[in-house]
Amino acid sequence: QKTEWAKLKNEPTVSKDGQHVELVANIGTPNDVEGVMNNGGEGVGLYRTEFLYMGRDNFPTEEEQFEAYKAVLEGLSGKPVVVRTLDIGGDKELSYLHLPKEMNPFLGYRAIRMCLDQQDIFRTQLRALLRASVYGDLKIMFPMIATLDEFRAAKAVLEEEKAKLVAEGTQVSDSIEVGMMVEIPASAVIADLFAKEVDFFSIGTNDLIQYTMAADRMNEQVSYLYQPYNPAILRLVKMVIDAANKEGKWAGMCGEMAGDELAIPLLLGLGLHEFSMSATSILPARTQIAKLSKVEMEELAAKALNMSTAEEVVELVKSI
Ligand code: PEP
Ligand code: MG
Repeated sequence: QKTEWAKLKNEPTVSKDGQHVELVANIGTPNDVEGVMNNGGEGVGLYRTEFLYMGRDNFPTEEEQFEAYKAVLEGLSGKPVVVRTLDIGGDKELSYLHLPKEMNPFLGYRAIRMCLDQQDIFRTQLRALLRASVYGDLKIMFPMIATLDEFRAAKAVLEEEKAKLVAEGTQVSDSIEVGMMVEIPASAVIADLFAKEVDFFSIGTNDLIQYTMAADRMNEQVSYLYQPYNPAILRLVKMVIDAANKEGKWAGMCGEMAGDELAIPLLLGLGLHEFSMSATSILPARTQIAKLSKVEMEELAAKALNMSTAEEVVELVKSI
């Protein structure tokens, strides 16, 4: 099996009937870049920047962040890198950011909500990213976007920082794509409206599933409701992909589901363009996709969307 995988290390990802998709990696630090390259990653689909902020007792400076982003972009030698802006709150805390205790942290003050409120933190990160943008193919995405207003506000802050840097004579790439994570059901439902304004979507199923099913992703007592294959989830995923395609944008997925052997046939059939997963899943996934016909998976996905339960969908996928 390992030799079968290794053969595809430097190959593109192509289905049996010749359709291309991209297999990219989720990373947390610049140290993860080597694993991406060694496992044939076509880029980074999710760089979780919160690790830069965690395990220390003050905010990382613009310079520290710049060095980390530059290292990742250079390490990928021109391959695309999707950097997610700070997604703190929920289950991820910072000792030096004194956030009030909340009844429902996952529904509370986190990610883009905090960044738009405490803009000095956000602006420092955006400046570091913009300065690093000349070292590779940077794409920026905002986490936990619920409304168009939030996306517009975040993008406006980015544009302001870009204009400031340019005025100071700092080089900034002028081809940075700006996208969003779709991990809140509200944004999946109006993905058609978002698609007119974003450059891309990345579906965050880890959160999208917990919010759609109203089942905490950490709570074992309700884990039976955490159902990636529930037709409700598949239909939301389809809405997002269709909305992107209609506007000529691309849609990826960076939740755990994207690297799941059972999900890949369905996601291929739904028309997902970019699959972001742990680096070690990339070669197995590329091998799997090479054996699947996209046209046949479209039929499979269409059937799945009309099934009644997650179990039925799982049975269906296992039967291929
Ligand atoms: C997600 O929600 O699917 C996601 C990729 O983000 P995180 O797991 O970091 O919340
Ligand atoms: Mg998330």
